[in-house]
Amino acid sequence: MADIVRVLTDAVANQIAAGEVILRPASVVKELVENSVDAGSNNIQVIVKDAGKSLIQVVDNGCGMSANDARLCFERHATSKIRETADLFAIRTMGFRGEALASIASIAQVELKTRRKEDEMGTMVRISGSEFERQEPAGCNPGTSFSVKNLFFNVPARRRFLKSTSTELKHIINEFQRVALAQPGIGFSLVHNDSVIYKVQPETKKERIAHLMGHHFNHNLVNLETKTSIVNITGYIGKPEKARKTYGEQFFFVNNRYMRHPYLNKAVLSAYESLLPPESIPSYFIFLDIDPEHVDINIHPTKTEIKFDDERSIFQILLASVKEGLGKFSITPSLDFDQDGAIDIPVFRNR
Ligand code: ADP
Ligand code: MG
Repeated sequence: MADIVRVLTDAVANQIAAGEVILRPASVVKELVENSVDAGSNNIQVIVKDAGKSLIQVVDNGCGMSANDARLCFERHATSKIRETADLFAIRTMGFRGEALASIASIAQVELKTRRKEDEMGTMVRISGSEFERQEPAGCNPGTSFSVKNLFFNVPARRRFLKSTSTELKHIINEFQRVALAQPGIGFSLVHNDSVIYKVQPETKKERIAHLMGHHFNHNLVNLETKTSIVNITGYIGKPEKARKTYGEQFFFVNNRYMRHPYLNKAVLSAYESLLPPESIPSYFIFLDIDPEHVDINIHPTKTEIKFDDERSIFQILLASVKEGLGKFSITPSLDFDQDGAIDIPVFRNR
């Protein structure tokens, strides 16, 4: 019998990767906005139509790309962010896998316009379902604009599984919030079907939280600040009496990347202990800053799960930090610092 093993074409391989990375329009928003952050932009505009089903456009004023890079960035495993395996443990950028653009271009019609400040002319690249269509010089502002049309046009099964416009828009808003909360120094806007959902200028973290999550946070946040040799914790937690019964205002960021972490969520909840009304969940916006050498962000294609090499210590530090925050503002008057050791936290590395 003849040999039957074959190497897949790039187009097929890209579509398979897209299956993991691009679940819905919100995933495109996340990937494009993260690229704009990595490009050093201080203004990022997101424009969507029909909850991203017909158009997702992200315009930034970042570093832009050369004509060659504008073509190459759509190749699988094409990235400017890492070069060798060792770089994986020093990551400070949002991206590094070099697969987002290749994935998006395999399941949508994409137009890129980009110009570096030092170039007189920019460049335009059009690509559809992994097929390169054209590239030509283009007049454009410094920075980059990606427009993604008709997502999943060639993957009918995925397109059919998209939810209602309001549900998909909610997902987009969630992803937008996650990046915009982590980057208060960048101005952002989000426009859906010509109506402005958010428009924020560079501001403080606290102002950003109030602008994106609601003005009641101006009065309901408690500041966290804990420095240790393992991790630095900053951010804000909500006052216990304002805790809600539904999830949606719980944010962990590790080195400015949003992440889900049920185990650390438990640390926060246990710090509040009996202060919470029954079945309610406190709001929190907690930033963990940690040497990238001690985290692995390459355990999930969408990079929203992160593995710490010393999870237990981080749990203890976070628990103490939140307790301290609540105590500092006399929210837990009975808290005994000497006993809890909230400030002088005994930690040791288990490596
Ligand atoms: P990754 O972000 O993992 O490197 P992507 O597929 O998202 O992979 O992007 C590929 C490359 O394209 C990036 O490494 C970057 O060099 C370039 N790029 C993408 N978006 C932008 C942008 N908005 N501005 C400048 N360069 C960009
Ligand atoms: Mg990327």
